[in-house]
Amino acid sequence: MAQGTFHFPRGFLWGTATAAHQVEGNNTNSNWWAWEQEPGRIAQGHTSGLACDWWGGRWREDLDRAAQAGQNAHRLSIEWCRIQPAPDRWDEEALDRYREIMQGMHERNLTPLVTLHHFTLPLWLAEQGSWENEAILLPWEKYVRKVVEALKEYVTLWCPINEPNNLAYHTYILGLWPPGKPSLSSYIRASVNLMRAHALAYRVIHSLQSQARVGSALHYRGFEPARPWFPPDKWMTGALKGAFSDAFMTAMTTGKMPFPFNRRIPEAKGTQDFIGVNYYTFDNVAFNLLRPREFFTRRYYTPGADLSDTGFIANEPLGLYRLLEWGKQFRIPMIITENGVEDADDRIRPRYILEHIHQVWRGVNYNWPIKGYFYWSLVDNFEWERGWTQRFGLWELDIETQARRKRPSADLYAEICRENGISSEMVVKYASQLLPKLFPDV
Ligand code: BGC
Repeated sequence: MAQGTFHFPRGFLWGTATAAHQVEGNNTNSNWWAWEQEPGRIAQGHTSGLACDWWGGRWREDLDRAAQAGQNAHRLSIEWCRIQPAPDRWDEEALDRYREIMQGMHERNLTPLVTLHHFTLPLWLAEQGSWENEAILLPWEKYVRKVVEALKEYVTLWCPINEPNNLAYHTYILGLWPPGKPSLSSYIRASVNLMRAHALAYRVIHSLQSQARVGSALHYRGFEPARPWFPPDKWMTGALKGAFSDAFMTAMTTGKMPFPFNRRIPEAKGTQDFIGVNYYTFDNVAFNLLRPREFFTRRYYTPGADLSDTGFIANEPLGLYRLLEWGKQFRIPMIITENGVEDADDRIRPRYILEHIHQVWRGVNYNWPIKGYFYWSLVDNFEWERGWTQRFGLWELDIETQARRKRPSADLYAEICRENGISSEMVVKYASQLLPKLFPDV
């Protein structure tokens, strides 16, 4: 077999991503905490509980692990309800705690990428209508200002809102996230407000910090026509891409949020210094008149696809390549802000990681402006409505004892980070079945 190494450019960011509610624990003032206590909301009645106990201080040991494993960056989020537990109260101690974490990242040579809103809201704001109510924009602006002023000494990479498209979809179309209210008009209102909030944050951050780099982190689920020769499959694929993945992007490029939102948001134009892409998998899309609730489509994974434990994710690395190929047209840096798979026994994770990073390398090799990759996630954490039933971590977490156990993928990813590339030796060691595919003999 051929031998070699796929190198990445110097300074490439290699990290993992986490989110506050999923790792911190005891996040009692958030709308998610309340939601988890309602019967039937979370798989098997799970709750976030102590999560990975980061608020209790275990961020130290986990970030030690990240740094010792060769990572040079970490993406994490700030919990709004800790900073502002009530409308008229800022918690300076909580801000200090986040400052300490940022400082801790610097001490470990981990470049922070900070998300300001990752799905969870203070309960008091949720009670006022969450993102559906445009009145949220005022407290949002104050919150962004407060956090950026407190952390700007340590952070230049900012992501105001994680996956606004996915948040609105899970909340107002699927009804799986609080307040669990499926309604097309709510979906449209919340999406527009989220876009306006991103634009507002972009301006606030830049007004406070000239060297800031502010980007999005949209969820890009891949959609591919099931029968590429059949025009209705192609139209439906285009419609899904347009409404789900591209609408926010279009607004940030043109100032207009297209169908089904149909809103002019001029202030959104040009509000991205980098494109953050969260990519996990793709669906095949077939037109189907009998499925109005699924937008007249049947969506399915490729038969025989390499599936994750619960069948939630199919290993489809080519989708990431296609996404980056699409993203390069915007001519700004791109960062893979999330990519990962749930896999308790580390059965498919090594090949998932290798194949996805290989697709990133293909783009890098064409000189597309790809600047970093963040694996989701560092350690198993609370997976929203799926509770603890899915395990995405490089490290396994025992939620009873808080003990961590390293999965083989953690070593693989460490080798990739240290080498700043993928070598044929790594493939032999961790997923030898990929060798003919990644390093073919010519
Ligand atoms: C979210 C994460 C989540 C991950 C895996 C992403 O869409 O941003 O919070 O844990 O998917 O489910």
